[in-house]
Amino acid sequence: MIKNFEKRPAEFAAEVKAAAESGYISELAAKARAEKNEIAAFAAVYLAVQKGLGLTPFDSQIIAGGYLDDENVVELATGEGKTIAAVFAAYLSVCRGERVHILTFNDYLAKRDREWMKPIYDLLGISTAYITEKSTHDERKAAYGADVLYITVKECGFDFLRDFLVTEPEDAVGCECVRAIVDEADSLLIDEARIPLVAAGIMDAQKDAELPGIFEFAKALTDEDYATDEGTAAAYLTASGEEKAEARFGIGNIYDEENNELLAKINDSLKALYVLAEDKDYIVKDGAVRIIDAFTGRIAENRSFPGILQSAVEMKHGLDVTERGVIMGSIPIQFFLRQYGRVSGMTGTALSAKDEFNELYGLIVKHVDPNTPSIREDKPMAVYYDEGSKLAAVVEEIRTAHEKGQPVLVGTADIAQSERLSALLDEAEIEHTVLNAKNDELEAEIIRNAGMPGAVTVSTNMAGRGVDIKLGGADEKERDKAVEAGGLYAIGTFLAESERINDQLRGRSARQGDPGCSRLFVSLDEKIMTIYKLKKLIPSHKYPEPTTEEITEKTVLREVARIQRISQGKTLDERVRLLKFTMIGEKHRDLTFSARRQYLTGEKKPTIWQDHYAIRYGDALMLFGEERLAKAQRDYITALINVQWSRYLEYAASLREGIHLSAIGGKNPAEEYNIACEEYFGDMGEALTEDMGKALERMIEVAPELPDPPRPKRIYTYLLEDTGDELERRTLAEALMGEIDYDEYGEYYEEYRPSDSPKKEKESEPKEKKGLFSKLFGKK
Ligand code: ADP
Ligand code: MG
Repeated sequence: MIKNFEKRPAEFAAEVKAAAESGYISELAAKARAEKNEIAAFAAVYLAVQKGLGLTPFDSQIIAGGYLDDENVVELATGEGKTIAAVFAAYLSVCRGERVHILTFNDYLAKRDREWMKPIYDLLGISTAYITEKSTHDERKAAYGADVLYITVKECGFDFLRDFLVTEPEDAVGCECVRAIVDEADSLLIDEARIPLVAAGIMDAQKDAELPGIFEFAKALTDEDYATDEGTAAAYLTASGEEKAEARFGIGNIYDEENNELLAKINDSLKALYVLAEDKDYIVKDGAVRIIDAFTGRIAENRSFPGILQSAVEMKHGLDVTERGVIMGSIPIQFFLRQYGRVSGMTGTALSAKDEFNELYGLIVKHVDPNTPSIREDKPMAVYYDEGSKLAAVVEEIRTAHEKGQPVLVGTADIAQSERLSALLDEAEIEHTVLNAKNDELEAEIIRNAGMPGAVTVSTNMAGRGVDIKLGGADEKERDKAVEAGGLYAIGTFLAESERINDQLRGRSARQGDPGCSRLFVSLDEKIMTIYKLKKLIPSHKYPEPTTEEITEKTVLREVARIQRISQGKTLDERVRLLKFTMIGEKHRDLTFSARRQYLTGEKKPTIWQDHYAIRYGDALMLFGEERLAKAQRDYITALINVQWSRYLEYAASLREGIHLSAIGGKNPAEEYNIACEEYFGDMGEALTEDMGKALERMIEVAPELPDPPRPKRIYTYLLEDTGDELERRTLAEALMGEIDYDEYGEYYEEYRPSDSPKKEKESEPKEKKGLFSKLFGKK
């Protein structure tokens, strides 16, 4: 961090400008590198921006850059030039010898920002690169060598996982996590934090000898023996089913820990039989079960249902499959970011999520005033009885704006709502553009034009993040027209789970001192109102009768606003608890990944054969010679670590399936889960030694041939966005949360804090500023 920066950000900016005025880029850059001089580094960037882009950085950008050098999340409004602000911090890091990853919101922005900023970096003499989904292996390898790399967290995380699976050190692309600057930080660090990145391999299918019997048992059950839950897509045994299972498999209590695996297999069989539907969830094609993606409705290539669920579905259709996808590695985004030694972030909307940033990551939110103060008018929230009257009102609002030539951007809850609104606009004969393509580039193009006079653009709330909406596009005359009509009007059509998400849309209007306004339209039938029981918060005599008019009753308005605060508090609490729930796995992954890397690179020589199978090792030495045997030992241990780790992941998943039930017995499920994982991991070393022993036997048996270690034939990666993850399921979340009484929750919300929040500590030691996250892991 920059010395004393936070005490005097404005002075710092002044010093930077003074140094820039009396210096040259090359001279300042040399000083910055040689002395790691912060003023010189910033001044060099300042001049390079002027020369390379023809822009003069604002003080707000220099100050944002200063905050970015420490573990902060900088809040600087949309359109204020954060892309350039990040260059200041990135360059300073490079001067200190760190390689920097600038993590962008999508592939389009990775490429755009790198190309856009390249002239600056070129003048400073440092190398830059970008990576997108399309980048080849060789391109990636080269790009990771650059001083500053623009990349999405997704691509970077996939590379990290793939590097765990390579068989030769030189096959790794060398994704090293040193220093990250996260753009649109709230989206990545909060909204998408829990999404796991997954790397899977095609392996020879291993037959599970128990499964057919279990499947037949499930198939023979009657309606009373099981129940299904549509919401969570889960199936489970009822009391009579439990009895039957206990009798059939000769066990005590099916919910006892030793029966977790059996229970998971029964549940998967039930799910395959009674929840998953052919032609809806999957299709059977060429003798194989193929998943249909819930979002796109298309076949998800290379995907299979997790673990034995896939086998169960295959059995349902009498299929015999010889290959299968096995999850070889996975990492939720929040833990991937944890791999970095140093992280900071920037976004237009951070303050309303400052607790999240602090508790989950130990990051402090710093607000930086925009260069030109915002003159946006935020109109009061408009509340309607139901979705129909709300959207009708939105259409009228759009019509009024549209007719006077004011551009309108509507942010909807989801694609379905976009389409409903679009149909209504068609009826009203209002020309508009609907954005629901999953194509970043096209999306950017449409959003960029959303500021043209009279333009009406309907899109989901987050679409086109990072793309600047200039009033009137590049045309001065058009700009004047749009300004005269009042600037961009941002309309939200739903109450988001947090204020921040509604703010995100608002922030797209009135950039850089432009005129603009915003308004949020909500209705009492939105799901969020039901979840947090709006009806109970409002005394029944005050709850409105059905009406198409705007509702103005003060109690209603107040309680609707409260719903969002309750939701915010609860989501944070859930996030903290889920984080605790999974923390142990993260420790285990770190240990496993680093052990494998050390064996692969030769940093550490495996000696399992020498230590545990000395005699057979001696035999093998005669057969293969020392060099071949050493290489074989390395190849086997790396491959078998992968196998062990994929088993661990499968075990942990089956555990999560059953573990929430221990809450009923009064135990703490997070603790139970951690203990079980710890035990399993403890046994893994022994299992690995055994596998290594078997491999050695096999080698001696088939000598002089050297059999291949068990490796996936092919690797593929994906995001587990469509939440097959048990952690996302309500049952588990609720078990973790205990019984939640939302009525009460609302009452004590204002004082409410998660039980072991680091807040108190923070007050006594304000300099520590470590969140739960750092407490769990300690600093690297
Ligand atoms: P943000 O990421 O904060 O939303 P961007 O980095 O996308 O903003 O920049 C928004 C716009 O502001 C761009 O068109 C950029 O060219 C312009 N801009 C950035 N910095 C300056 C500056 N110092 N002077 C003038 N225009 C600037
Ligand atoms: Mg941006």
